[in-house]
Amino acid sequence: MSLIVQKYGGTSVGDLVRIQKVARRVADTYDKGHDLVVVLSAMSGVTDHLLQMAEVITDTPDRRELDVLVATGEQQTVALLAIALKNLGYKAQSLLGFQAEIKTDSSWSNARIVTINPDRMKALLAQKTIVIVAGFQGVDPKGNVTTLGRGGSDTSAVAVAAAVGADVCEIYTDVKGVYTADPNVVPKARMLKTVTHDVMLEMADHGAKVLQIRSVEFAKKFNVPVHVRSSFCEEEGTMIVSENQDMERTVVAGVTSSKKEARVTITKVPDQPGVASKLFAAVAEIGVSVDMIIQNTRSGNLTDITFTVPRADYKRTLEVVKKVASAIGAESVAGDENIATVSITGVGMRTNRGVAAKMFETLAENGVNIMMISTSEIRITCAIEEKFADQATRALHTAFGLDE
Ligand code: ASP
Ligand code: MG
Repeated sequence: MSLIVQKYGGTSVGDLVRIQKVARRVADTYDKGHDLVVVLSAMSGVTDHLLQMAEVITDTPDRRELDVLVATGEQQTVALLAIALKNLGYKAQSLLGFQAEIKTDSSWSNARIVTINPDRMKALLAQKTIVIVAGFQGVDPKGNVTTLGRGGSDTSAVAVAAAVGADVCEIYTDVKGVYTADPNVVPKARMLKTVTHDVMLEMADHGAKVLQIRSVEFAKKFNVPVHVRSSFCEEEGTMIVSENQDMERTVVAGVTSSKKEARVTITKVPDQPGVASKLFAAVAEIGVSVDMIIQNTRSGNLTDITFTVPRADYKRTLEVVKKVASAIGAESVAGDENIATVSITGVGMRTNRGVAAKMFETLAENGVNIMMISTSEIRITCAIEEKFADQATRALHTAFGLDE
């Protein structure tokens, strides 16, 4: 007998037929003698729909109230699943974020989980009740409803798994697991049997959409075994594991791409101490996170600084940068909203040479110009023109021997 946390995403609970199928699957797991906490997303499309309703009223809805609004999506699905399970004759109870004592900070629409008090969930489990927790939501120190950012129920699930001491956290989604690349872009992509926390973190941070990155951070920190699998079949999916476990010894585990990037360049900046700090402090102030940065020196004690930001933050960033530019005596500010990144990630990169050269060669052969490069110990990312993103992803997948 184990303690299992199962998380079902929006597609898996997308309609009432599917919710009843989830109830059956949960019941089957329970019948095998396991204790179960189920974490749910809202029905697919519901969170978007709720956000759109607020937007009809205003472009700048009150942020506290927006969280109260979007949290209702998950309130529906947990209640419906509890109703379905009870109808099948099982003991089940839904808990909203505050009832499950998922305590967060107060950053509306992007709150972080601070602690979870597992007592109430454990008491229900002790009574052999299936516990159904609303994902994506929590409660701040003042008792306000908060939400955890898009895709946040992954993080709810892993955090709950850590808090109750689950043996495994199963993430049920509409794909079979974690792939070497997005199968919609690369038909030859393969499912990975295992992937390390570090590789998954890099991939999630550079375009892989399968898990919210914070869920992987939790899994790593609390060493929660995570199993990403499909709710539409019985097959095993991908295990996310810490590194000492047996794993595929490939140099590159996956190729990811993010198309939601933009680039800002500020030219002829006086090359003196404090300039970069002024610029990036101003960008940080408006809450925009910068990804890649390059600085090129020009003659005459001048320099150009280029950096990337999420496309959604592009306009705000440009406004602020223009102000700073005139304050520090830079010549001009330019930008490009059609930037993508392609990344290769793998632990084998630490010990293999020539990986970067091969990546750049592959892009060159495909006529793709590299605008910026960033690396970590286990990842290389290139910023390129968005129109080349899919082609570059496929070419790299082939070049690094990942095709099926
Ligand atoms: N319902 C939320 C969203 O659509 C949270 C989640 O599904 O993970 O982002
Ligand atoms: Mg998701």
